[in-house]
Amino acid sequence: MTAPSDKALVPFVSVDHMMQLIHRIGLPEMLTGIAACIEEDFRRWPDFDKTPRVASHSAEGVIELMPTSDGRTYGFKYVNGHPKNTRDGLQTVTAFGLLADVSTGYPVLLTEMTLLTAMRTAAMSALAAKHLAPEGAHVMAMIGNGAQAEFQCLAFLAICGIDTVRLWDIDPAATVKCARNLEGTGLKVIPCASAEQAIEGAQIITTSTADKANATILSDNMVGPGVHLNAIGGDCPGKTELAPGILHRAAIFVEYPPQTRIEGEIQQLPPDHPVTEFWRVITGEVPGRRSPDQITLFDSVGFAIEDFSALRYLRDRLERTGLFHPLDLLADPDDPRDLFGMLQRARPAPVPAV
Ligand code: NAD
Repeated sequence: MTAPSDKALVPFVSVDHMMQLIHRIGLPEMLTGIAACIEEDFRRWPDFDKTPRVASHSAEGVIELMPTSDGRTYGFKYVNGHPKNTRDGLQTVTAFGLLADVSTGYPVLLTEMTLLTAMRTAAMSALAAKHLAPEGAHVMAMIGNGAQAEFQCLAFLAICGIDTVRLWDIDPAATVKCARNLEGTGLKVIPCASAEQAIEGAQIITTSTADKANATILSDNMVGPGVHLNAIGGDCPGKTELAPGILHRAAIFVEYPPQTRIEGEIQQLPPDHPVTEFWRVITGEVPGRRSPDQITLFDSVGFAIEDFSALRYLRDRLERTGLFHPLDLLADPDDPRDLFGMLQRARPAPVPAV
């Protein structure tokens, strides 16, 4: 039997390797680096193939495939969203993903993406807030203190310079966990007794709750002028976080409208309600925040290009680290047309009769 050649081995980043990589690079630097890659890719938005993600819905959740390509590299992510999972000790969101070389179609990277998704979502949120939050914003309300929460808080610290987070979750244990994990990060952490208390004095409000329902995490009267809303938990049909009245008062920024119209907060609005594609803010084609009093909303659902950016960030940092397993994922016959011969040669020798 012949061993696969190096060109056929695909680097695979396990959860363990990803955690080692994050500690080696440092989480703030990784969040900043992924945000820079997203910014670069949003600047060349028209270069990418784009499609709303392919979603398979069930009563309890959703499984989604998120593909894109810039013509040279292709990427996709598999991701689920099952809000009830935490009751059974499972995560709401898990993911893995892949990059491939468009010229050969060969995969060049396979990786866990549960941690990578938390980082890219946080990097994307903070990048949006950098352009949309009011000048001098330094206090963020963090509503929903689950798996995404610390990553969100730390990205806003690293990228937007917030210094205070005010935490609220319907489950006090989640807030205790989040506050404990943020100790020593440089953030002032204030656990709160209600959503109303959490938003007091906050210039930025992040909602990151998980419930398969049209929830009202923020009601209309809770959002005053000059606030930036970063709504990441409403990301599926029938799963939203904001009262519709807020949407009518806000300037709404989205990733890819054909996907956000189906999945985002704006599924609650008529299909022709005006929204701004955030990539146009990045290129300078349209302004972000227009006045100190404006309510801005980043209606985040998570788009394939952000995963592509995170995947290429990872690929570019991996080589010299050794933090991957070479995976025998691709058949590699010596004669590319002799796939069958390769199989024949791999037949185990007959066991001699005793
Ligand atoms: P999680 O289940 O770990 O945490 C969700 C938290 O929300 C839980 O602690 C829960 O107690 C809390 N919660 C539920 N209802 C609440 C309410 N009414 N008020 C306050 N808190 C409430 O989930 P997660 O992995 O942190 O993800 C959070 C949400 O973000 C999910 O809905 C997920 O689908 C979404 N998400 C979006 C993106 C994106 O790109 N937009 C990416 C990843 C996850």
